[in-house]
Amino acid sequence: MNLPLDNLIAEAERCVVCGLCLPHCPTYRKTGSEADSPRGRIQLMRAVAQNTLPNNPRFKAHIDLCLSCRSCESACPNSVNYGALIDATRALYTPNSSNWRSLAKPFIRSRFLAKLLIWPLWLLQQFRLKKLLLRIIPPAKLLPKLSAPQRWKTCHPTAEPLKGNVSLFLGCAGSALDSQTLNDSIYLLNKLGYNVHIPKRQTCCGSIARQMGDADEAQSLISKNAACFNPNYPILTTVSGCGAGLKDYLNTHTILDISAFLANCDWQHVKISPLHQTLYVQDPCSLRNVLQSHKDTYRLLQKIPEIDIQALPGNSQCCGGAGAYTLTQPAMANALLQDKLDSMTEQQVTLLATSNIGCSLHISQGLRAQNMHIDVCHPVQIITRQIKLYERN
Ligand code: SF4
Ligand code: SF4
Repeated sequence: MNLPLDNLIAEAERCVVCGLCLPHCPTYRKTGSEADSPRGRIQLMRAVAQNTLPNNPRFKAHIDLCLSCRSCESACPNSVNYGALIDATRALYTPNSSNWRSLAKPFIRSRFLAKLLIWPLWLLQQFRLKKLLLRIIPPAKLLPKLSAPQRWKTCHPTAEPLKGNVSLFLGCAGSALDSQTLNDSIYLLNKLGYNVHIPKRQTCCGSIARQMGDADEAQSLISKNAACFNPNYPILTTVSGCGAGLKDYLNTHTILDISAFLANCDWQHVKISPLHQTLYVQDPCSLRNVLQSHKDTYRLLQKIPEIDIQALPGNSQCCGGAGAYTLTQPAMANALLQDKLDSMTEQQVTLLATSNIGCSLHISQGLRAQNMHIDVCHPVQIITRQIKLYERN
């Protein structure tokens, strides 16, 4: 939702400055500055909108440091719509015009161009030319091991008695960097009796553009998605960050995280091999605070016999991998990442499940940098692995 100026002021005035959100804000916890807290930011937004404070670089710095994790929104007793406030503020007052944003824009707009970019990256990885790759594209340090770019069929019919139809949202990062999770999702949905539709014309969810303050671009991407997905089928997302962006702005369709949908399916005929391992689950902020379906991840994973599932301590705090945040605010992103790595070390984690590729890339890059060997997987990958293991034995 994009708030016009009057509504921004009206929404900001709903904040009763109680401060109950402050302990839930990661940036406030790190800097201790009121201006980096939700309450402080809301007062700054209102003052700038009312022209009582200038829209200067200091204001922009406090707005840019916000992760849009929306922990504050979940904690607010007055239900202040912080997500809409920060989106509107970024669009109206602090659009980001960095060079990398202009460079990235065509790749976000066109899945074809994104695919063209992935081919050389994949080839460089295949031929173990990692140093060359990092020299050409330094953010490539975030990249996991890539699969060859895939061509998606528009329909994957089930061979089981038909239970229904669903649409699958590919996502830019999801389809480019984690085709395994998408393929596993298709496999599970087909096995549970669902035809899976993948509209060719689907595009980016618009979240990165919105985070950069480009409301027009974000809206144009939402409109393209609205036009190509069948409104009668739920849209399932394997990346909770995309799911959150779609849920907020694509009001014509039902948006569900894949785990939320799968957890409610009939699994009676599906055989799953037991997993004798402690599995820790990281709750992405988008899943917890926006989609509000983080508990479904645990419900889905509990279908694996004998599994020991634990929530990663500190789950309510963002890991710092919030969209483009790792590139725009590396110091804060790394400080928050370190808290996650410390928590994993303390718990002696060997397997971590997360439903957001932004978190997965950020955490995996931190693990690699600190030589920690922990498997980071999407929950759908873990349950599929156990089903295939049963079928092989
Ligand atoms: S909890 Fe809500 S009302 Fe209270 S200070 Fe934070 S945003 Fe304002
Ligand atoms: S969205 Fe997250 S970082 Fe931003 S003010 Fe709210 S709690 Fe703090």
